[in-house]
Amino acid sequence: MYIPEPISKLIEGFMRLPGIGPKTAQRLAFHVLTMDEEDVMDLAKALMRAKRDLFTCSVCGNITDSDPCFICADKSRDRSVICVVQDTKDLLAMERTREYSGLYHVLHGAISPIEGIGPEELKIPLLLKRLEDETVKELILATNPNIEGEATAMYLSRLVKPFGLKVTRIAHGLPVGGDLEYADEVTLAKALEGRREL
Ligand SMILES: [Zn+2]
Repeated sequence: MYIPEPISKLIEGFMRLPGIGPKTAQRLAFHVLTMDEEDVMDLAKALMRAKRDLFTCSVCGNITDSDPCFICADKSRDRSVICVVQDTKDLLAMERTREYSGLYHVLHGAISPIEGIGPEELKIPLLLKRLEDETVKELILATNPNIEGEATAMYLSRLVKPFGLKVTRIAHGLPVGGDLEYADEVTLAKALEGRREL
């Protein structure tokens, strides 16, 4: 079947995005054809700008268009606590809770021997530099609750021992609205482990 090159290129482009299969890519590509030229230009410009104008904060590794990022620059935030996350999407998720007012450190991944990601590929040296500042009293390890995330948390907790700060790991457990009988055993075990006194 012949598909004009501009449209096949567009389909290919969409297929490079995560979670987009051939059918969705085709649907999106044909949708673009129905859009106003102005909207298409806006989208194209937004893609270009996101790539060109964003970089990582020199303090915390957050993705930003100003350095330091708006969180590091915010004087009202609690500078005694740093929450370590794997990527900026996790930082945004934490921010959405409105329960946390400390600083962050974005690692940009997790230790994964299988994928060849060691500590030096992550923003760990930058974190150690920050801990030299004695204002920091607590480090919250909020890496993902999977093998890589757990390994990274274990590695970091050992690495930062000499700084003598309080190191905590976020509790993992059951989703709100969930049902005990449907929880997998790892989640349930973690929930039990992270129990607290009432
Ligand atoms: Zn920052």
